Amino acid sequence: MLRELHTELRAPFRSSRGSVTERRVLLITLEAEGLESWSECVAGVDAESTEDVDRAWSALAGELLPRAVGRRFARPEELLAQLRPPADARAARASIEMAAWDLVARAEGVSLAKKLGGTLAAVPVGVAVGLQDSDEALLDVIAGHLAEGYARVKVKIVPGRDVDMLTAVRARFSAAVLWADANAAYTLDDAARLGGLDALDLGLIEQPLAADDLVGHARLQSQLRTPICLDESIRSLEDVDRAIEIGACRVVNLKPGRVGGLGESIRIHDRLRDAGIPVWCGGMLETGIGRAYNLALASLPGFTLPGDISATRRYWDRDIVDLDFVVANGCMQVPTGLGTGVAVDVERVQALTVRMAVFAA
Ligand code: MG
Repeated sequence: MLRELHTELRAPFRSSRGSVTERRVLLITLEAEGLESWSECVAGVDAESTEDVDRAWSALAGELLPRAVGRRFARPEELLAQLRPPADARAARASIEMAAWDLVARAEGVSLAKKLGGTLAAVPVGVAVGLQDSDEALLDVIAGHLAEGYARVKVKIVPGRDVDMLTAVRARFSAAVLWADANAAYTLDDAARLGGLDALDLGLIEQPLAADDLVGHARLQSQLRTPICLDESIRSLEDVDRAIEIGACRVVNLKPGRVGGLGESIRIHDRLRDAGIPVWCGGMLETGIGRAYNLALASLPGFTLPGDISATRRYWDRDIVDLDFVVANGCMQVPTGLGTGVAVDVERVQALTVRMAVFAA
């Protein structure tokens, strides 16, 4: 079954790409042998590097889900091979692949984290802070999140709201772990400006340049002391290989929806681990369903830096799962129940559904 939900965030989230107040969420339900799995498609959250929601809907409804009906598989890769997902439908493909992983974990009677090879019972988590109206407002928001116990704070930056703003943040929070995320808002001409961040002891600068500009990132990294982390640039293992080869980054933000699923995420994780490059799990304004998958992935041993896996209340007044994700001592517990370990609040899902399609044999 495929559904589209219209959801509203607790508060607008602003980055260099604009402001987000609501999210169109696609949910998939796969059923097999008396088991049921829900997954979430993150299309549309980041339209530059994933497909948009309508494109994902048509890939899922027009091709992938009709082909999935009646298929037998023991591993998620076997299901995908039969579906032949279009190359540009990564988020759609990922949502089916992730549900298949969850089904297999449930069929084997284990948690998804265990099935993926996770080793951590709790993972370090951080929070992403959007652009605020003033530096004072930003300082207040950060103080609130640090009091909530997050292991680090990531601040969105944009040309003109960067060095001075973060200097004020560093002055107020001298010991905090601070990161900056530019969402591709700069060019190489800004190298000197970005160099001004080197004095602020940031853990990393995320995606300063355009997604397809790996060479530019390599040049910029050679001029910066602060590690560059790639996010939007990383859509596959090949992207990671290229980035490592030319020294385009020292850290990677991995998003399973962007790279086409958990299988590719594990391959990327393994490659980065071998290369000694730290990886962390990014977020795409997920509901509790997507959050549970991210947590399971982030329990793999190479995820050594805090992920963007925030508490439920960071983004939602009321979630669509039964589990309230909370942060304690900088960490979030990885669910231990079957599969993703969360139960969906079907009544809530129905109330938010604006369209649905059913596929049956
Ligand atoms: Mg980012």
